[in-house]
Amino acid sequence: MRGRKSKRAKRQEFEQMQAPSLGGVQVPRGNGRTVVRLRHGSSLNDFADKIDANPASLVTVLFHLGEMATATQSLDEDTFGTLAVELGYVIEMVSAEEEDRELLGAFDIDLDQELADEDDEQLQPRPPVVTVMGHVDHGKTKLLDAIRSTDVVAGEAGGITQHIGAYQVRHVHEGVDRALTFIDTPGHEAFTAMRARGAQVTDIAILVVAADDGVMPQTIEALNHAQAAGVPIVVAVNKVDKEGANPAKIRQQLTEYNLVAEEYGGDTMFVDVSAKQNQGIDSLLEAVLLTADAALDLRANPDKDARGVAIEANLDKGRGAVATVLVQSGTLHVGDAIVAGTAHGRVRAMFDEHGETVTAAGPARPVMVLGLASVPRAGDTLLVASDERTARQIAEKREAAERAALLAKRRKRISLEDFTQALQQGKVETLNLVLKGDVSGAVEALEDALLKIDVGEEVDLRVIHRGVGAITQNDVNLATVDNAIIIGFNVKYAERVEELADREGVDVRFYSVIYQAIDDVEAALKGMLKPEYEEAQLGTAEVREVFRSSKFGNIAGSLVRSGEIRRNTKARVLRNGTVVGDNLTIESLKRFKDDATEVREGYECGIGLGSFNNIEIGDTIETWEMREKPRS
Ligand code: GDP
Repeated sequence: MRGRKSKRAKRQEFEQMQAPSLGGVQVPRGNGRTVVRLRHGSSLNDFADKIDANPASLVTVLFHLGEMATATQSLDEDTFGTLAVELGYVIEMVSAEEEDRELLGAFDIDLDQELADEDDEQLQPRPPVVTVMGHVDHGKTKLLDAIRSTDVVAGEAGGITQHIGAYQVRHVHEGVDRALTFIDTPGHEAFTAMRARGAQVTDIAILVVAADDGVMPQTIEALNHAQAAGVPIVVAVNKVDKEGANPAKIRQQLTEYNLVAEEYGGDTMFVDVSAKQNQGIDSLLEAVLLTADAALDLRANPDKDARGVAIEANLDKGRGAVATVLVQSGTLHVGDAIVAGTAHGRVRAMFDEHGETVTAAGPARPVMVLGLASVPRAGDTLLVASDERTARQIAEKREAAERAALLAKRRKRISLEDFTQALQQGKVETLNLVLKGDVSGAVEALEDALLKIDVGEEVDLRVIHRGVGAITQNDVNLATVDNAIIIGFNVKYAERVEELADREGVDVRFYSVIYQAIDDVEAALKGMLKPEYEEAQLGTAEVREVFRSSKFGNIAGSLVRSGEIRRNTKARVLRNGTVVGDNLTIESLKRFKDDATEVREGYECGIGLGSFNNIEIGDTIETWEMREKPRS
């Protein structure tokens, strides 16, 4: 019985294995610095391949390190790390981006090289891409609306009819008609989610701060994100129309965060605006262009296959997958074979923010694209492939890589020592979730926020599936198998799926506000945490007399001093402040001759503590119960 071996025996066996003879298990060892590069989702087979070892022997070594895995199972970085240290190797996990670079390399696509190879003549000025960030309620949405409404072209076209996740406006700057692109999903969640996926979309951030409120936690968070990404900031001091607005205070407060206004000798432009009254919007656009021209060299080559990023995507009943794409370099044409993340297809039609058809979209132009076979995620890179077949192959390779990485993430990390025990004690609890939303940006933001919930180590939260669109039969089936809860954000059931969910007993919850979903999940997680108990005193009684009964043992004639004494509750006996008997039970309780279930403060009663007879006059009998401690 291997599992029964003592730790020492195991250790000895392991040390033998490490000895030059390796006790029959041959594992080539590194010198402590030998680097092994592994892709995410690799298995022991892959590792064995790299170091020329027998996979079975790696399984054995890992087993002795307290981890159980098969040779083909995807393992995570920590597990490889443990194994590598023992064998004298250093593991380098290849990042998702690097992996994708290698994957594209197989198709002769090298995006970095492509950019490096471009010479000056090929590069042409492009509009800046701007994201609006700031604390909640400081006016991000209102400001984006105000900027949109100043646009002349929009006015001529009869106003913007659609929200597509990004828009472009024009502004005459120093006599030149210039364009600016705005990402129309305010908030740094979208910004961070995209950056986390390696997509740097934003050139300039507008930090909105309400002049009647001041610098708030999310203001700081937003500016930290922008500064970390090396994105220049223009500060919009909003709501200057309001009484009590103090724009000077905002300038003052932000100096602490290295944003010093130009008028104070710094290099950050601060513009006072009122998004509500459309004041200062022109000056703000002016400031964005001035900052862009001073700090950035915004140029791109329009004469090549398009490269870009998916900003937002959803599934439309009539039109299929609809994605808003920001072209970053090259030009996207109708008819191009494209791949965005794991979605592929051919551009069937493109629309701008006014709903007008577009046949070509150059650098910094956001367009809504029809023709993808599935819905990409926000932050997925988009590229034009030489033909549809290549696009499909890239998408499929990416999907396989993603699946492998997901499997690695899924593996329960639990050591051999405590596995059975933990399972029996119910220590391992996982909340599995399936997330569905109307747009991919929302799903990403929700997943991000959920994974950030701090619930300690006892409970695990796993998103086993995420996607855009209605809740389908497949989602419910997944939830049935993995015992998951489905969260629908701004979506409904697909046809006949509700009955299925009912029948299978799958909990499906619908939300239209992200924070409500997060709150509920957090509460559920806390409920799932093993309850903690604390002792709660129920009552005390003073022993006034002791009656000896041959049948019931000693009976304490007592006066209830506080609370109440209840039958069948836990009790202890104290004498001069010291416990003389603990873990007893109130086995009998009488008022005069009658049995009682409880006796309240101020009343006399007879208490029997079963076989415990060590009771004296003057003792205190204390009763208590264990109560679940509420979590903070
Ligand atoms: P967000 O959470 O940052 O997107 O903030 P919103 O754009 O939703 O604005 C929050 C509230 O502030 C709304 O009630 C707006 O009408 C109001 N608001 C936004 N800008 C201004 C402004 O310039 N002046 C005044 N008085 N109210 C504003």
